[in-house]
This record gives sequence, structure tokens and C-alpha cells, in this order.
Amino acid sequence: MKQNVTDIQSGILSGNRRMLAKGITLVESRRKQDMDAAQQVLEKLMSKTGQSIRLGITGVPGVGKSTFIETLGMQLIEKGHRIAVLAVDPSSPRSGGSILGDKTRMPSLSTREEAFIRPSPASGTLGGVAGKTRESILLCEAAGYDVVLVETVGVGQSEVEVASMVDYFLVLMLPGAGDSLQGIKKGIIELADMLVINKADGDNLKSAKLAKSEYEKALRLLGPPKSRARLCSSLKGDGVSAVWDEVTEYINKQKKEGGFELNRKKQMYNWMVRITEEAILQDFRLNSHVRDALINFKSQLEKGETTPVMACMKLLKLFRENTERPD
Ligand code: GDP
Repeated sequence: MKQNVTDIQSGILSGNRRMLAKGITLVESRRKQDMDAAQQVLEKLMSKTGQSIRLGITGVPGVGKSTFIETLGMQLIEKGHRIAVLAVDPSSPRSGGSILGDKTRMPSLSTREEAFIRPSPASGTLGGVAGKTRESILLCEAAGYDVVLVETVGVGQSEVEVASMVDYFLVLMLPGAGDSLQGIKKGIIELADMLVINKADGDNLKSAKLAKSEYEKALRLLGPPKSRARLCSSLKGDGVSAVWDEVTEYINKQKKEGGFELNRKKQMYNWMVRITEEAILQDFRLNSHVRDALINFKSQLEKGETTPVMACMKLLKLFRENTERPD
């Protein structure tokens, strides 16, 4: 890949999709030389990033995420936007995701030149399942996509992670699940800038309206300030543009008040701290001196020959004295 760093950079800047795909592959690679190359690519492109609206979308399989994205994406293309869809699929780290990876999920959007759809394989490296998605967002922005949709299913930590890399977080819900809030995953309300009750059409409309008022109550108690619940039908298109209008209205207001930039800076700083901490922990665990000592201390502890605190201090000392990574 080395020969390509400059090609990839200029290719991405000129909006070349193949080069964008290559850049993302580089970012996702776990090979040391690719990781270095990815950072070189990114460093040069940083000044061309940040101009998109980053919108997170989550919901259980079947709630209508791909239908929603297809409808919203086509509407946005009509308005002149260019859309990138990054699907974070924590379901299958090895195959690169099985729930969201299928392009046929968005049949119209995937044929459009103005749309770029890419499953983001769950990353086993730094930063959790969505570790690489942050960098993929940046590449998409450098390639001129002004709306980046980051989609995930509600598995494990993926929602929390996606929420921490976007400007606005949408949670799609099914009508009827609102009879009680039991079906809703703990913590999701706290992340949602908007709960969108999808499939609010036909026979579902009544239960969707009921769900909306229940979710509104829950959001008032637990949601982020100004969070809201809305109805839509992704299949018929009803309410989808209204959701988008509210998102942009919110973001424009945030931009005026300074909260937008502040949030992005905070996200970037938190990300740096997190991956640094994870890297240190990884170094600690891989350190052969530490590994040997751990075995020793385990048996000493069992025999009552040391205490956890004493062993901890010795482990840290050993680690500090031997911090060179054995790679
Ligand atoms: P995903 O797994 O969350 O991506 O869900 P899909 O977008 O694949 O949708 C699952 C099923 O629900 C499909 O059969 C869709 O046609 C259907 N569906 C999606 N949105 C709506 C909607 O607004 N109304 C109705 N009635 N069905 C919908």
C-alpha cells in the first residue's frame, strides 16, 4: 500500500470513490505499516475534514434503519447533498459484519454516484468496535461527503460509541413497543437526541402515537436537553424530511451558540485519551516481565505471601522499568 499514500490522498480529495475505499481499507488494516500509512494519509487530509453533518442512527434489526437511510439519503441527494453511510456492525468481527453489511439493503441509494456506502467491520483493536469508524468519517469528509450517516445495531457498546462520534444521534423505535418502556435498552434514552418511531403508518399509526407520548415523557426525565420524539414512515416517506429539518435546525443553533465546535473538540480529546489509555493497558498486558510476574504473584497471593496492593506496586514498577514494547 505504501506507494499509494500520495495517490490515495489526492484521489480522496478529488472525490474518487475507489481511492476513498482504499483509504478506508488502509485505516481498517491491523498491519503496522498500513496503520502508519493511514496516519500519513489522515494527517494531510485533516484540514479538509469536519465540514459534514455527522448523524448517528441506531435501532434493532427490522426497525427500518436501511429503509430510513434509503429514503432520507435519496431526499438529501435531491437537495444536492453527498451522502456517506458507514455501517458499524458489531455482530460479526471476522466476516466484517453480517447484519448491516449487505448493500442490497439500500437498493436505490447504492446505485447513486452521490452516495458512498460502506460497512465498517468491528475492530478488535484500539477504541472498541467502532474504533476505525471515526477515521473513516474523516476520509469521507475529505472526499466531499457533506452528510455522514453512521449506522449501528443495538448490540453491546456500539451505540455508546457511535453516539460519541456524531453530532446528533437518532434512535429508531417500533410502534407498539411503547406500551411500556420495558423493551427499550437501558441507557439508550440518555443517548438519544431524537427517538423516531418508525412505521407510523396504516394500522400502526395509533400505537405509534401512543408510543410517542410515552417516549416523550421518558425523554423529559432522562434524555439529553431538548431531545424529542417524532413519528415517521420510512416506507411512505412521511415525516422523514421533518426529522432531517429538525436535525439541521438543532445543529445550526448549536453552531451559532458555539456548542457544536465544543462538542467536536470534546469528542476528539476524549477519543485521544481513550485510545492512549487502551494502548497503555495493552502494553501492560503484552509486557513479558509483567506476564511472568503475574503468574508469580498469583501463587504468592494464594499462599498469603503478598497482598494485592503490594503486588500491584511491584507490577507497576516492573512495567515502568520495562516499558519497551516487544514488537
Ligand atoms: P433494518 O434491519 O433496521 O435495516 O430494517 P429494514 O429497513 O430492512 O426494514 C425491515 C422491514 O420493515 C422491511 O420489510 C421494510 O420494508 C419494513 N419497513 C421499514 N420501514 C417501514 C415503515 O415506515 N413502515 C412500514 N409499514 N414498514 C417499514
